[in-house]
Parts: sequence; C-alpha cells; structure tokens
Amino acid sequence: MSAYRELSPSLRTIMTPGPVEADPRVLRAMSFPVLGQFDPEFTDLMNETMSMLREVFRTGNEWCFPVDGTSRSGLEAVLVSLIRPGDRVLVPIFGRFGHLLAEIAERCGAEVSVIETEWGTVFDPEIIIQAIHRHKPQLVAIVHGETSTGQVQPLGEIGKACRELDILLVVDAVATIGGTPVETDQWMLDAVIGGTQKCLSVPSGMAPITYNSRVEQQLLSRKRIERGLADPAVSEAAARPVSDSIRSNYFDLSQLQDYWGPMRLNHHTEATSMLYALHEGLRIVLAEGLEERFARHRINELALTAGLQAMGLQLYGSQASKLPVVTCPLIPEGIDGEQVRSMLLHQFGIEIASSFGPLKGRIWRIGTMGFSCRQTNVLQVLGALEAVLLRCGFRLPAGEAVQAALDVYTGK
Ligand SMILES: *Cc1c(COP(=O)(O)O)cnc(C)c1O
Repeated sequence: MSAYRELSPSLRTIMTPGPVEADPRVLRAMSFPVLGQFDPEFTDLMNETMSMLREVFRTGNEWCFPVDGTSRSGLEAVLVSLIRPGDRVLVPIFGRFGHLLAEIAERCGAEVSVIETEWGTVFDPEIIIQAIHRHKPQLVAIVHGETSTGQVQPLGEIGKACRELDILLVVDAVATIGGTPVETDQWMLDAVIGGTQKCLSVPSGMAPITYNSRVEQQLLSRKRIERGLADPAVSEAAARPVSDSIRSNYFDLSQLQDYWGPMRLNHHTEATSMLYALHEGLRIVLAEGLEERFARHRINELALTAGLQAMGLQLYGSQASKLPVVTCPLIPEGIDGEQVRSMLLHQFGIEIASSFGPLKGRIWRIGTMGFSCRQTNVLQVLGALEAVLLRCGFRLPAGEAVQAALDVYTGK
C-alpha cells in the first residue's frame, strides 16, 4: 500500500495579489477530456480564446494569444523576441517587477538604462518622456500595476510619446488585466502581457499577450523556421543566420504566431487543460462585462480601505495612484506582521501577503482580485484581521471595521 495520502488541499480565502481563488467554473473546465491539438474542436477553442482576448485587452490587434508558462514567460517571450543584443532599452522602475523587466532585458543582451522613483509612488509621465529623449532607447518596458507597492502607472502620455519617436512600448499588465482598465489601443501600447492567476481568476500557468503590427514587423525581420518543418518555399527563413534570429525557440513569437495563426505550423503542444481554463475564465469576464467588473473591483477596494482605516491602520503609498486591486496597510508599531499572517492562515483559513525588499516587514498586501474580490471575502478578512490584531495586543476600536465596510456596501 502506498504511504502517500490522497490530495486534499484546504479550502482557503485567498486575499493576496495572486494566485487568487479560481472561479469554480474554471476548475470544472479543467476537468474536461483532452482534445488533440489540431482537432478542429480544439482549434476553434484557440480561435475563440484569441477573440475574447482582443476584447479583454481592448485592441484590434491580430495577435492576442497565451504563452504557456507563468506570466513571466509572457514577459520573456516579448522581450527576447524584440531585443537584439546591444539594443538600448529603458526601464522606469517603481517597484519589484520593474527590476524584473530590467533583469530580463539584460539577459537578452540589451544595454539597459533604468530610472527609478520612490517606491509607493509612480512617475510623472513627463519624467519618463525626458528620459526617453536622453537615452534614445529602441524599446521602453514598464509595469502598469505594481503589485509590490500597490501603485498603478498612467500610460497614455508615455504611449503617445513612444509612438511619435518610433520606440516600442512593452507593458507588464499582469496584475491589472481584467480588474482595472488596460487600454491597449487607446494608450498606444505596442505589446502587453497579462496574467491568469490575478484578476482573471484562472490558475497560474499561462500568460496572455497581445502585440501590434509594429512588433510583428520586427519579429518577421528575425524570423527563422525550424529546419525540419520548413517548406521549400519559405526556406529562406530557415537559412537565416542564427546570430540574428530570436535567441529562444520556446519563446520565439514569430513561431508562436505561426502556430496560433491560420498556418497552424507545429510548435509546442498547446496546454489543453490550461486553455480550457483560460477560455472559461475569459468567457466569465466578458459575461460579467468589463466595466461592471472594474466597478466591482472598485467597490470592494472602497469597502476594504474604509474597514482598514476604521481599524486605525494606515495605508502605504500615494493614494492618488493607488492600484485598485491591491491594498497595502502599514504594519503597526510593535506588531509582528508574520505572526499576524500566520494566525490569519491557521485560525481563519485566510491568506494575505507580505512584501518584498525594502517593504518586507513594513506592509501587508491585501489583494481584491477576480473571483476573490467579493463582499463576503472582504468582510471576512476585516473581521479576522481585527480579531488577530486584538489578540496581538493592538488597541483598536472593536467592531468598527466591518461596520465601515458594510456602510460602503449598503450605501449608507
Ligand atoms: C505576479 C506578477 C508577475 C509575475 O507573474 P508570474 O505568474 O509569477 O510569473 C509579473 N509582474 C507583475 C506586475 C505581477 O504582479
């Protein structure tokens, strides 16, 4: 008899900036039978997924598809496919994930310049535009919603400036897609990377991306075709010198688009069950309606922040540029943040997040994303946090937090 126990994960209330609770309909979709990757039923699902992604990214771009892997696989795919060694890349950094973009760009061989602004704030777009004029990059990579600091960077003016100067703008919208507006076309973003396990409420394992024809032109100029697959008519691309071709096979967007597009040229084997999950997750997003979904994220944010403030907690960072889907209370003086998180998890089954680098031990991060972003969860986290803080000796006006949140929900 095997000593391994049957898998039985605990039911949790997940109020972190990801992964968040998956919608039960998404989990059900993942249990459906496997289809072959070129079965017309499956390729229809692929096409529908692309079409739904266009709506969620708010774009007319032809290319909208998921990269298989976690969100950073989407970041790597876009950056490795666009950056030639020696290219100049500018990365404005206002938190942890900006550093990730800079690191990936460096690994792609770019000459990376960074500008930084204080964590807990975002850039005045004018500062970024000045840096663009100074550094003259071929590509700018920036985070939209920084989950490490709970801040959201306005992108419209930056997009316009990049377009005028013929610079590509790549945006990490992993945390914002499906929770707060991401206007790919209106803001003139050239490539955007989303995430599944945040506001889409699909498990981690895919990275939806979109890019426009400016990006595609670059990809085609570096295109290479796997020798065993090349048809003689396109063998020129197969013969392209390795030195100029995209330095990854798995993340080569020119090959990925041939796989997702009408050619259906074999590349990897699409992750069947993850595609079912993404398809169902996107269907749920569009059935709710994007505007309605953004409004739901705002009301729950409002109730959560009202409750935290009523408890006597202060919020970290600039409130003018606060990311609606992540709220960062400061850990009060004399309270051990990790002890509080551990009690929340073990006594209440609720998970909230700690933070990174300079913010470790200074703030908690509470996510209100996707399926986790609902009234019952917000009320539970407020009630439980109050109880745990009382237990840890923090003096607070008992009962006020949940009442303040209820006031928001009942419109009092
Ligand atoms: C979560 C997150 C990522 C990384 O996503 P993974 O799925 O863990 O690879 C990247 N950028 C931002 C802004 C994020 O919030």
